[in-house]
Amino acid sequence: MQAFAPAQDHRVVQDHRVASLSADAGSAALPGLLCDEMLQGLGRWLRAAGHDTAIACDGIADERLIARALGESRLLLTCDRALAARSAVRSLAVVLPAGGLEDAVRALGRTLAIDWLHAPFTRCLLDTAPLAAASDGAREALPERARSLPGPLRRCPQCRRLYWPGSHVRRMTARLEAWQGDRSTPLRST
Ligand SMILES: [Zn+2]
Repeated sequence: MQAFAPAQDHRVVQDHRVASLSADAGSAALPGLLCDEMLQGLGRWLRAAGHDTAIACDGIADERLIARALGESRLLLTCDRALAARSAVRSLAVVLPAGGLEDAVRALGRTLAIDWLHAPFTRCLLDTAPLAAASDGAREALPERARSLPGPLRRCPQCRRLYWPGSHVRRMTARLEAWQGDRSTPLRST
């Protein structure tokens, strides 16, 4: 059972800003994004793709969510149609279906030219901070089987988490590539 609207109930709040992004099929970075608490999973995948994505805390008041979107000039991705229709954020909001990740990805793809391979694994999945190259000494903190893996070792300057190109990154990359491939057959709405 879904507590929110079914997939066919989502809609796009059309406005100049969102429309102009939709028209841009290039690979430029999106402006900052802000996912509501129902879209936390999608938010982490957007971070994995390299997009600057804030994720709202559980239970945040609508007013604070709106203030953050406006204050940081972020597009608001939300499952809440009523929230998105409020005049303060109407020009910044994209309504997505609650529920499954794949449904949200497809719906988002119909609205924004998301580049799922923009800059994979260059942002922290926990806090969206850009990752920095880790020192050589940091490799010793990795699990032993991961120390000899080729590829960059990065650290989040904010939460200090280490990222290395292990099997989880390969699996996630395959999913990002699949979503990127789906972009080549865009759905055209009238
Ligand atoms: Zn971090």
